[in-house]
Amino acid sequence: MKRIPYPSAVDLANLPTPVDTLPRVSQAVGRELMIKRDDLSGVALSGNKVRKLEFLLADALDGAVTGVVTCGGEQSNHARATAIAAARLGLGCHLLLRVADPQQPPAISGNPLLATMAGASIEWISAEQYQHRERLLAEAAEQRGYYAIAEGGSDAVGAWGYVRCAEELAAEFGDRPLTIVTACGSGGTVAGLIAGCRLLSLPYRIVGICVCDDRATFQQRISDILNQMAQRYDVDVATEPEGIEIWEDYVGLGYALSRDEELQEMLALARSEGIVTDPVYSGKAWFGLLNELKRGRSLASPIVFLHTGGIFGLFAKSEQLRSLI
Ligand SMILES: *Cc1c(COP(=O)(O)O)cnc(C)c1O
Repeated sequence: MKRIPYPSAVDLANLPTPVDTLPRVSQAVGRELMIKRDDLSGVALSGNKVRKLEFLLADALDGAVTGVVTCGGEQSNHARATAIAAARLGLGCHLLLRVADPQQPPAISGNPLLATMAGASIEWISAEQYQHRERLLAEAAEQRGYYAIAEGGSDAVGAWGYVRCAEELAAEFGDRPLTIVTACGSGGTVAGLIAGCRLLSLPYRIVGICVCDDRATFQQRISDILNQMAQRYDVDVATEPEGIEIWEDYVGLGYALSRDEELQEMLALARSEGIVTDPVYSGKAWFGLLNELKRGRSLASPIVFLHTGGIFGLFAKSEQLRSLI
């Protein structure tokens, strides 16, 4: 296999993550479905953000900072993973988390609970302030002498985490046709997978199912990340927006809002295969994939669903889930 010119990384994730078969679901839909378990990259420090943080935190340590600052929604998995990874490396962590009313912050549970247990400080910000997150992150980093990590860890550095994932998939599947389907929320995961397939000349089809915004927004964002990687690291991964496959029909009620039919499909997966997804990302994307397969969408087999983690966000939906069980 070709050698990939990885930048430096710290070791945070349990890799490679396993690939599991889904025998009962596969039989039910009449297609060969498998699942890449990036939800098993760790326990509290788990999910897709850990792969990105291996590269981002190495970049932070290169700059000799004493901590990191990042941002996200109230139940951000990325913020939680960043807080725990920072503690593992002896770094401080400050989080800007978006809530409806910063004057009345929510009770700390789920992801923010884990983040504060690991010593992170939280600053609640409004949706209006969140629109200026890049400036707020830069200011918070400047004040503290910290390194700023972009939303979702999705930039030219973090995306290398998913180049490594593409390399793991190549070790598992070789260069036969394959469809990889994953949730898309800030674009770094899809960007890294595309870059990895380019660097290894893999014929894999990468599909991102967006959980917010729309196709054009993500095509542009992912293209930007790939172009920045190409420039910064001198690798041949530059990609036009039109060459990036995003399915936009599964945003549903909006970011972090769940329809009962999405939760029903998550429950069905948990019951038939013992695999638990999260309502904000992996469960929504899973619902989208199954819906497309039931409608007869043609995709090369095997179809590998990338489980990106997020289990702690499940508990914010306890009530809605309980009503369906
Ligand atoms: C952040 C996240 C995603 C989306 O990944 P991006 O690289 O931001 O597109 C998917 N699933 C989970 C569980 C996440 O936390």
